[in-house]
Amino acid sequence: MLKKIAIEKISQLAAVLMEKGTLLAPVKEVSGHNFAEIKDPKQVDLDFYNTIMSPKGAFFPHKEDFVKYKIGKPLSEVEPAVLNLKPAFLFGVRPCDVKSFEIMDIHFDAAGIIDPYWRFRREATTIFGYAYDLSQPVDSADFYNTLGIYAADPEGSDIFMVKKDKELLLKAITKKGENLLPELTVLKDGITADEKYFTEYVNKGKEYKTRFMTLDQEVVAKKLEDIFDNTDFWTKMSAACLSCGICTFVCPTCYCFDICDDTLFGKGTRRRVWDACMFTDFTLEASGHNPRTQVYQRLRQKICHKYSYHIRKYGVISCVGCGRCTRHCPVNIDIYSIVEAALKA
Ligand code: SF4
Ligand code: SF4
Repeated sequence: MLKKIAIEKISQLAAVLMEKGTLLAPVKEVSGHNFAEIKDPKQVDLDFYNTIMSPKGAFFPHKEDFVKYKIGKPLSEVEPAVLNLKPAFLFGVRPCDVKSFEIMDIHFDAAGIIDPYWRFRREATTIFGYAYDLSQPVDSADFYNTLGIYAADPEGSDIFMVKKDKELLLKAITKKGENLLPELTVLKDGITADEKYFTEYVNKGKEYKTRFMTLDQEVVAKKLEDIFDNTDFWTKMSAACLSCGICTFVCPTCYCFDICDDTLFGKGTRRRVWDACMFTDFTLEASGHNPRTQVYQRLRQKICHKYSYHIRKYGVISCVGCGRCTRHCPVNIDIYSIVEAALKA
């Protein structure tokens, strides 16, 4: 099933989705685009390359309160946080980011322990994937082709969107998408020429080239194990690193978090906040011992986790080549170049 709408009428589609639930879509901010909960349908802006922050925050917010309590009071008085139970629509997600949700599912929903917050939001959310604009140059930081992902790859989306001149084509990919699309009465039916355009666009996306290297999972996992103790290599790779953690915060597949208690005047809130292996105190133990005091140890951890340990444990690289960590690193540290150098070391 394929539907369409004029891009200038996108706010009408946004308004219909807002009536049905929570709409999260790209909005233009001072420094670029980011996903945000839409309050005014006119905020939705599809004229972007990719967002600064990944869309993982839709399922795993940067900061999330779990319970509120009063110190010294019984457990029965603890107030759990109320989840937004409305259906949600995550609109305008690039194919590499859509792929990241599958990787994150491993940690929040399939590794033996289910995170109810992640699972609930995943189930309640319809994903509108959005093909890259193939007429625009690819960003030099991107390398999602290396991970087998293409610029107009509909896999993983419930509905996949492709721009066709001044129109937006929307095709249902999953049952969830098929059920929703006919309810969006603001959309028009696509015609045969639209179906043809959509299929050709998806295929053309395979020729839209990002950086690429042949990556055999077994080879890269083993190579990183072999050079684990090559301190000279890791020191050279991390020489400029500031331990700022930006690369992990913008990453769609980084999932480390901390649980903390904020207490004041006898009242407390227990919340989850993002954490990052690049921070100096990430591994600081209560005894005062810190097994990763050196920058090179922390960068090595990040690279080896994504390109070695994750393969060993879950059979998949924990990176989708979205390029954000490279694009936003203040000192231009590039994960692709590090993996490439590691393979040659
Ligand atoms: S963004 Fe760059 S400088 Fe900051 S922690 Fe990551 S690699 Fe280091
Ligand atoms: S490691 Fe970098 S390129 Fe890979 S998914 Fe994370 S931000 Fe994107």
